[in-house]
Amino acid sequence: MNNFYKKLIIDLVDTPKSFALLIIVLIALVIVLDAITSVAKKKRLKTGLKESGIFETAFGSKPLPVKTYVSDMQGLSGRPDGLISENGFIIPIERKAFSKKVRDRYIAQLLVYMRLVEEFEGKKPPYGYLVLGKKNRLVKIYNNDDKQAWLSGLLGEMKSFVNESVDVKATPHKNKCKKCIVREDCEFREG
Ligand code: SF4
Repeated sequence: MNNFYKKLIIDLVDTPKSFALLIIVLIALVIVLDAITSVAKKKRLKTGLKESGIFETAFGSKPLPVKTYVSDMQGLSGRPDGLISENGFIIPIERKAFSKKVRDRYIAQLLVYMRLVEEFEGKKPPYGYLVLGKKNRLVKIYNNDDKQAWLSGLLGEMKSFVNESVDVKATPHKNKCKKCIVREDCEFREG
């Protein structure tokens, strides 16, 4: 497995080598993404920032109620940090309060949300927003065929790792392990 995918999987789920956990990741990819999001949300609460305030500030409008989307058809589920109505579309928002950089895994997460919004809201969002860092920098991520093809490739390759029983090795690090959602069950954890 190349380093990109190792890093993507590890960053998405802090995954252990456990094949069973990897299956869980692939069956319900965004459930895991939600777990990461919930860790980030706890951190956000510690900073005293409220999402609604952020979105009102950033977009000049009140957010729509956030939903959890579960798609059996796509084998995906997820809960964006925010949803807004803009230019006649429902637009998903993902906030990464502790990152200033746009990373591929953030884009992949947002593209998954755009797929889910399209299925459940009946209209394809032409873009979504990443809200980065403490200054809430807005980055518009366009939802075009090239990006969705890229996402399909990622998901397909991840599934192939499962189908081919590729061994995924843990890369423990005490800082990462400290906040890992599966640390209690991981024999490789550090710290
Ligand atoms: S506890 Fe550490 S080694 Fe184990 S899965 Fe989590 S981050 Fe990886």
